Amino acid sequence: MKKEILVFLSEEPDLGLVSRACEMAASAGLSVKAAVLSEGSTLPETKKLFEYGADEVTVIRVPGEAAGERVMGEALMLAIDREDPPEILLAPATVLFRAAFPYLAVLLQAGLTADCTELSLDENGRLIQVRPALGNKLMASIRTLSPVQMATVRPGIYLPVPCGKAEKEVTVIDHDRKTTTTRTSRIKTAAVRLSEARVIFAGGAGLETPENFRYFEEKVQEAGFCTGATRKAVEMGLTSYSHQIGQTGIIVSPEVYIAFGISGAVQHLIGMRSSGYIVAVNTDKKAPIFDYADYGIYGDWRNALDEILKKL
Ligand SMILES: Cc1cc2nc3c(=O)[nH]c(=O)nc-3n(C[C@H](O)[C@H](O)[C@H](O)COP(=O)(O)OP(=O)(O)OC[C@H]3O[C@@H](n4cnc5c(N)ncnc54)[C@H](O)[C@@H]3O)c2cc1C
Repeated sequence: MKKEILVFLSEEPDLGLVSRACEMAASAGLSVKAAVLSEGSTLPETKKLFEYGADEVTVIRVPGEAAGERVMGEALMLAIDREDPPEILLAPATVLFRAAFPYLAVLLQAGLTADCTELSLDENGRLIQVRPALGNKLMASIRTLSPVQMATVRPGIYLPVPCGKAEKEVTVIDHDRKTTTTRTSRIKTAAVRLSEARVIFAGGAGLETPENFRYFEEKVQEAGFCTGATRKAVEMGLTSYSHQIGQTGIIVSPEVYIAFGISGAVQHLIGMRSSGYIVAVNTDKKAPIFDYADYGIYGDWRNALDEILKKL
């Protein structure tokens, strides 16, 4: 097995995950390879991957906007020598990698822990994977028994820390989808972008109906921004799970997080409290979200949305 941590990333990479891989690799004599899955025709920016800890960078180009998990899994395999796979494979727990990693795990006969919130190595260089378990009542530390160890990690958990690796030539691999399965599904959902967005407009139960939420999403998307949601909004059927932010959803840390009709439950705050600026819009002056907001707007979400979008 190659003494390597292979980190898979999308075009807007989770640099914090690369930094964490770099820290762990340094303590265990491993190298770090970053493999960027690119769906565009132009090459993504790769300089920062070296700066934040990659020894080697590969770009895998997959043509087209939408591809199924199997196509993506096959594309990811292009970065791996099956006879000599890396000891550890990591990826952010975005919709794309949550779907494609199980396929890879089967091919490599590797144990996979999904949605980790912490990673470290034990004294033998084996991965300790921490993730919430039993309905988030406890944090489980998981060790994988298989030689190859795989984990997806909640995006934004680790802060990017420069590791100062020298920039090298990047390997580019083109994936020919014609040679693979034709079954496709749309997996490039909002969640992929959400974890990497600079500005997020999030809606909660205060939006009340699916029609209202659709209006909210259309307005926000027209203006070029991403929408997130609370678990209650998802459970009420206002939007899909891929938008859920919080303890059991996606962790985000945008520059600006604007919460509409969200009370500020601790499970939601876990997912967004590291945002640069938090703006809260609520009709209840006593809503807990105001305690965490840098700016508070007391009032109806619809009026505030129109006013905010006019100003951006
Ligand atoms: C194990 C566990 C895990 C959980 N994981 C998550 C998670 O990952 N993410 C998550 O979000 N939650 C999670 N929850 C649920 C969480 O506890 C809250 O129930 C949820 O976040 C509340 O969502 P909300 O703020 O949309 O709804 P509410 O708490 O009902 O708040 C709605 C808010 O809208 C305001 N409002 C009403 N009308 C308007 C209006 N017209 N304009 C403006 N404001 C208005 C109200 O004043 C109120 O403050 C979890 C709970 C448990 C037990």
